Amino acid sequence: MVKLGMREFLAVGRVIAHGDLLRTTSNLHVCQRFEADLAGFSGVKRSLAVNSGTSALICALQACGIGPGDEVLVSAYTWMASAAAVLQVGAVPVLVEVDATLTMDPDDLAARITPRSRAVIPVHMLNRPCDMDRIRLVARQNDLRVIEDACQAVGIRYKGQACGSLGDIGAFSFNQAKNMTCGEGGAVLTNADDLYQRAYCAHDMGVDFRALTPAAQVPAFVGANYRISEIEGAILRVQLAKLPRRLARLRRRVRYLRERLERAGVPVAPDNDAEGTLGLVVTFETEAEAVAYAKRRGVHRLFDNSKHVYTEWTAILDRRMAHPQFDPWAWNGRNSRITPESCPRTLDLLRRSCLVSPLVDWPMPVVRLAARGLTEGYA
Ligand SMILES: *Cc1c(COP(=O)(O)O)cnc(C)c1O
Repeated sequence: MVKLGMREFLAVGRVIAHGDLLRTTSNLHVCQRFEADLAGFSGVKRSLAVNSGTSALICALQACGIGPGDEVLVSAYTWMASAAAVLQVGAVPVLVEVDATLTMDPDDLAARITPRSRAVIPVHMLNRPCDMDRIRLVARQNDLRVIEDACQAVGIRYKGQACGSLGDIGAFSFNQAKNMTCGEGGAVLTNADDLYQRAYCAHDMGVDFRALTPAAQVPAFVGANYRISEIEGAILRVQLAKLPRRLARLRRRVRYLRERLERAGVPVAPDNDAEGTLGLVVTFETEAEAVAYAKRRGVHRLFDNSKHVYTEWTAILDRRMAHPQFDPWAWNGRNSRITPESCPRTLDLLRRSCLVSPLVDWPMPVVRLAARGLTEGYA
């Protein structure tokens, strides 16, 4: 997370002094400015700030017209929200195995497509980009929308292009645990005007009297309120300006640690873009080795991270929505429920893999010291 400081404090102070916190009426247009900054930073035509990453996914799904009867292919290693958002719009998530990179396996994606498949949600977990070239190819061949979950990859690049800009539409999260934050927040990114308009509609009640730009070509549908306020907008503008330095700091540490681990023979997991990947994962031959390695400082086994492991998604496994008649699985008609057996390869990889903290808040001498602890006992 980019550290919060005096610049955010002053930016929020200006909004408070101005007195109008509502983005739809404030003439400071802080949220709009942030959206323009974010679109420029990410290389997309449009961005829409919303109040969470989950909201961003819901708006993206509704923008793509995904709903009852549809299936959405979702990476099996992700935060529960990626699958829950699909259910919130009345569609059914179908899990896809991850490969050794801990991101969606394009071959398994192709294998799990059915006549009901409408979209795919690749997830760039832990600042590690997916194999977007192959995922996009499979999507194109099967007429699937690509909805990128880039909630954990704000500012991360795949072959030089921003995660979140690589599919039809993308979602960012700005919650406290993410690369940049305003407490709770998110954004939708797209190059398509019609998808932007539909996402806008979804996030603001479908009201058609506001200045929707460019002029709406689509009739408004019933939306919800996923709006963000000028307070969050003000914080996000500052955070975004600070993000490149933060990522450079992260890149230095990840590169250094990866090099040290590889040289010592610690089994670093492969990635889809050596330049762009800013998350360091090690995958052992056995679960016991991973459990032992996770006892080292700054190391966490991926399997021990609760709702990031799909077998912990109790409500989804039990097919429990807020109302018994709101039953996306019944509407889908196929028995495509998620069970603990859905993705055994993903579970096996999570059991054998650890995240190594890049110690981004620490100076390099501390990182060098930590590298010793991480390589101790290896060649
Ligand atoms: C954080 C996260 C989300 C949801 O973001 P919120 O802002 O917490 O709603 C979705 N997907 C992934 C992969 C995430 O890490």
